[in-house]
Amino acid sequence: MKKKCAVLFVILAFMLAACGQNAGHTGHGQDGDTMIVTSFYPMYIFTSNIASGIEGVRVVNMTEPQTGCLHDYQLVPADLKTLEKADIFVINGAGLESFLEKVLSQLPDLTVIEAAEGIDLLKDENGEENPHIWVSISGAIQEVKNITEGLIAADPANEDSYRKNSEKYVEKLEALKQNMHEALKDIKTRDIVTFHEAFPYFAHEFGLNIVSVIQREPGSEPSAGELAETIRIINDAQVKVLFTEPQYSPRAAESIAAQTGARIYVLDPVVTGPKEADLDSYERTMQENLKVLIEALK
Ligand SMILES: [Zn+2]
Repeated sequence: MKKKCAVLFVILAFMLAACGQNAGHTGHGQDGDTMIVTSFYPMYIFTSNIASGIEGVRVVNMTEPQTGCLHDYQLVPADLKTLEKADIFVINGAGLESFLEKVLSQLPDLTVIEAAEGIDLLKDENGEENPHIWVSISGAIQEVKNITEGLIAADPANEDSYRKNSEKYVEKLEALKQNMHEALKDIKTRDIVTFHEAFPYFAHEFGLNIVSVIQREPGSEPSAGELAETIRIINDAQVKVLFTEPQYSPRAAESIAAQTGARIYVLDPVVTGPKEADLDSYERTMQENLKVLIEALK
């Protein structure tokens, strides 16, 4: 009998605690904080900049910082746990987060901000829209502005801070863009091959021509036929440089290089980084990309 009472008491205490947590607070963040969850690394960097230093606002990345692009991502229970605490979920959108439908059906009250909203999307030869907007600096700026407007709409009390942070960040990105345009305007080689479909926006911005892509289907190794096709295109167009990505195995690129004489360089689509990412991680990675491009295309 005594035991039963104790169990009942524990259950009651739990229920009371649960009630107390939700009372007087619109979201689910701890201690009344506004909890912003981001889908993956670049969204985390952008949102962290916009929400930087604002009291009571927390930014948490749902996926591990080494996850990379979320083309084939499957939600794990820990992700749902993170999302349950979220007031706002910042995603890239444009079809990148394949798990999204499942999330939205399970968490109907979650405010979702889509960074890609309203942005003109590039399409591949099959008419499929390309979601890698953030890889061009102009795209990153547009996404930062979209996230900013979304955060202001969801959390108007912090409008001034979001806006001030955002303007400061956009200024830095504009300077970066200017600097890269200046540095790349005289390069000799414009034809390149990239690893996956991450670079069309970047190439568009800086006047590069992506002749072929090594990994046609995101997340899967190219087939022997696809490899042969890429090798044929590279030989025909006399492409001199292949860009792999640090997030993927260089094996396919190495085999292509061996059969074409093209040189391999590493270009980073800013989809991974350290756990404690610095606010200027995007700019720093792009500066590294710039160095590589100048070396590869001079
Ligand atoms: Zn991708």
